[in-house]
Amino acid sequence: MTGKLVICATPIGNLGDASPRLLEALRSADLIAAEDTRRTLNLLRHFGIVTQVLSYHEHSTQHKHEALLHHLSMGKTVALVSDAGTPGISDPGEELIRDAIDGGVEVTIIPGPMAGVAALVISGLPTGRFAFEGFLPRGKRERRQVLANLQSEARSLVFYEAPHRIKDTLGDMYDAWGDRRAALVRELTKAFEEVKRGTLSQLLDHFAVNEARGEMVLVIEGNDAPPSLGEGVSPEHLLEILLSEGYSPAQAVRRAVKQCNMPREELYRLAMQLGNAQE
Ligand code: SAM
Repeated sequence: MTGKLVICATPIGNLGDASPRLLEALRSADLIAAEDTRRTLNLLRHFGIVTQVLSYHEHSTQHKHEALLHHLSMGKTVALVSDAGTPGISDPGEELIRDAIDGGVEVTIIPGPMAGVAALVISGLPTGRFAFEGFLPRGKRERRQVLANLQSEARSLVFYEAPHRIKDTLGDMYDAWGDRRAALVRELTKAFEEVKRGTLSQLLDHFAVNEARGEMVLVIEGNDAPPSLGEGVSPEHLLEILLSEGYSPAQAVRRAVKQCNMPREELYRLAMQLGNAQE
């Protein structure tokens, strides 16, 4: 008989976001594997939960990792939590989850807060398609390389960043991509929750005179330039590319019209035909 690994998302600030299902999972688990036992004990104390807590973080030894897998193989139910938000998202968990799956353990999830998704939605930037990039590399050269590789990414981009690096990061983004719409989302669900919406240059101006504080997520608009209508690329082909990238016919036409010498209505008719053919 194998046990069960329950991946538990926890609040990213406001304990009122703990769902009844989360509390029940933490209460009924045989043990809780926690990134930071002190933080998790605070959460448990608040809700009067007395389940045993073991530490499990990114520097955990192989021995700890195997001990948890052993508990699971003995039929125990282990709840996995990180400091805040969803385990495995810029937090430990991925390896344990993979090994549990490979070991035939039942894996289930209590979904909940994830700062990146909450920030994307509140940013007001396009939510239809997005790329979560987590933390950028700390080294300047690696960071600039990652940003250069993302230059033509059309999806909205979501980054985690620390306050002491935010000015450098905004500057590097401006250098790599020019001025784009952006939102700096801070302290979600907490007393000083704040969203600064504008462009990269406006955010740079803001932080030139204001101190950056708290936990923050940066959401940046994707590259709005449609794929180039190079020689021999017909409006039909351009629409095909846009539709295959997931744009609706109306969105594809809005982007293609800038490059095609064709009335909007005609492009729309073409996009609808192609869209129906692709279904
Ligand atoms: N696992 C977490 C999740 O699901 O979002 C992310 C953990 S990562 C180590 C921590 C980063 O998430 C912070 O540096 C910040 O960028 C972002 N973050 C976490 N809580 C936040 C909040 N309340 N408001 C804004 N950003 C937050």
